[in-house]
Amino acid sequence: MGFCRELGIKPTHQRTEIYRELMSTENHPNAETIYGNVRKRIPAISLDTVYRTLRLFEQKGIISRVSAAGESMRFDGNTKHHHHFICVECGKVRDFYSDNFNNLVAPAEVTELGNIGSVHVEVRGICNDCQNKNRHNPKK
Ligand SMILES: [Zn+2]
Ligand SMILES: [Zn+2]
Repeated sequence: MGFCRELGIKPTHQRTEIYRELMSTENHPNAETIYGNVRKRIPAISLDTVYRTLRLFEQKGIISRVSAAGESMRFDGNTKHHHHFICVECGKVRDFYSDNFNNLVAPAEVTELGNIGSVHVEVRGICNDCQNKNRHNPKK
């Protein structure tokens, strides 16, 4: 993990595995899911270590956090400028790319709230999977 040295993070085996796990999926997993998968390879790892490592990665800007409605904190290993489609039914978070959205300029009043790092757009709706499910067995 070359980036670790660049950012002054010691690339331990556990950190490398946590990073690899997050990069291997587009599902924006939460810490518990990452923990469950990494534990298969490193049985001695603790959930606390996973949390601390994710926080460290986040502070260093390697990964980012996603808040999905009613869900626990999820993490995002996709460092390309992208935006999110969030399903309000199952909480699934999908990435999408848009030059138009990348070029959005935050309104001036935002600068009164703080320094602007980047602008992300969050689109909410019902994903195709949930729509199909609803169609096949309608509620009620
Ligand atoms: Zn859904
Ligand atoms: Zn994402």
